[in-house]
Amino acid sequence: VRETSCVIVGGGPAGAATALYLARAGVGVTLVEAQVGVKPKACGEGVMPAGVPVLHDLGLLAPALARGARPFHGIRYRTPAGTVAEARFPGWRRGVHGLAVPRPVLDGLLREAVLAERAITLLEGWRVSDVLLLGGRVRGVRVRERATGRIEEILADLSVGADGHGSRFHSLPGVAPRRPARKRLGLSAHVAGFAGLTDVVEVHLAPSREIYITPTADSEANVAVIVEEAGEPAARAADFLGSLARASDELAERCARARVVDTVRARGPLGLAVARTSGPGWTLAGDAAGALDPITGEGIALALIHARALGEAVRRTGAPDLAACETAHRVRQRTMRELSVLTSATLFLAGSPRLSEAAVRLMRAFPGVFARLLGVAAGRGATKENEPR
Ligand SMILES: Cc1cc2nc3c(=O)[nH]c(=O)nc-3n(C[C@H](O)[C@H](O)[C@H](O)COP(=O)(O)OP(=O)(O)OC[C@H]3O[C@@H](n4cnc5c(N)ncnc54)[C@H](O)[C@@H]3O)c2cc1C
Repeated sequence: VRETSCVIVGGGPAGAATALYLARAGVGVTLVEAQVGVKPKACGEGVMPAGVPVLHDLGLLAPALARGARPFHGIRYRTPAGTVAEARFPGWRRGVHGLAVPRPVLDGLLREAVLAERAITLLEGWRVSDVLLLGGRVRGVRVRERATGRIEEILADLSVGADGHGSRFHSLPGVAPRRPARKRLGLSAHVAGFAGLTDVVEVHLAPSREIYITPTADSEANVAVIVEEAGEPAARAADFLGSLARASDELAERCARARVVDTVRARGPLGLAVARTSGPGWTLAGDAAGALDPITGEGIALALIHARALGEAVRRTGAPDLAACETAHRVRQRTMRELSVLTSATLFLAGSPRLSEAAVRLMRAFPGVFARLLGVAAGRGATKENEPR
């Protein structure tokens, strides 16, 4: 049996950032991650502007840029009929930007920061099997070392479930995880030889799929394709470039000399809602606390903002207690509500070519409104503490 102030399950962006902020607030943390080292994940790899100041605050922005992360300044939508609307994030001239950062770079930097933090003990290669619920309060977790099968219990004042979509904490009373009716799957890969990339993320609305292109170099991009979840992911991966070329003549032309430079990775189903995000002795973080569809790529920013809010709340209450967790969730909810304006709108539009055509025409006709919407989605309209600093 080990004892700690806080045990965090999952060393993804949510778990690692939460560990760093709690450690900064003076809390001793044990971070449990099932994997050893950093593994690539299917992801669009675009951190929305609201998350960038948090990376800066953690001291990770400059190292990320030094390792090849690339700023982006806005979003361009393109309909199946070829109508294009593009807007920059409000404040982009003052330096407001999103960040295209390969997950191995982001996750690697977070891991290095965790390893450098004395108040954090990182247990890699350990999988949490159970959450210990006693007398209505979570007392900690049971873990199993994957290499040896050794089982231990970690007792903690606060247990944080940052273990993604299939969180062990979802079996706690009242959490009641729900998946959206529309089953969608995300695939992503890095594509080199991509022509016509600029400094904006492109969203191509095509029949039964959306394509997100996040430029990572002059002619290289992270391409994420979101499809309805029917058919084998492997078959879709094999057809990755073909599906881009079939989406529009424009993409076919721009991808004529393109090639996938890594592996096509798949993740799904996408989207998750939970009814309860914290209780006595526990709280959820990151995708485990509910995930919007990745359609507007805000999962990482949301996880970072929530981690910072939890650290600040713990500093104020002086302990990682339920009050601090609930305060942080209110910040997360507020941010998520703002971000979901664009997500819900885009999801709705993506379902109908006629609507998406009309909407993109409107965005084109009223660029100021589009820019405002983008400002909200970027997090600038959310709360004062999300303002880029
Ligand atoms: C196709 C696609 C594209 C996306 N594009 C974007 C984008 O462009 N921008 C953006 O911001 N977001 C995007 N997202 C969402 C983003 O990937 C997630 O929001 C983000 O990874 C959430 O971080 P997390 O730490 O909550 O979860 P994860 O990154 O899933 O990390 C969870 C960690 O928990 C560990 N774990 C799980 N179970 C256990 C256990 N029992 N014991 C111990 N450890 C465990 C896992 O190994 C993992 O490391 C995209 C998602 C998809 C699928």
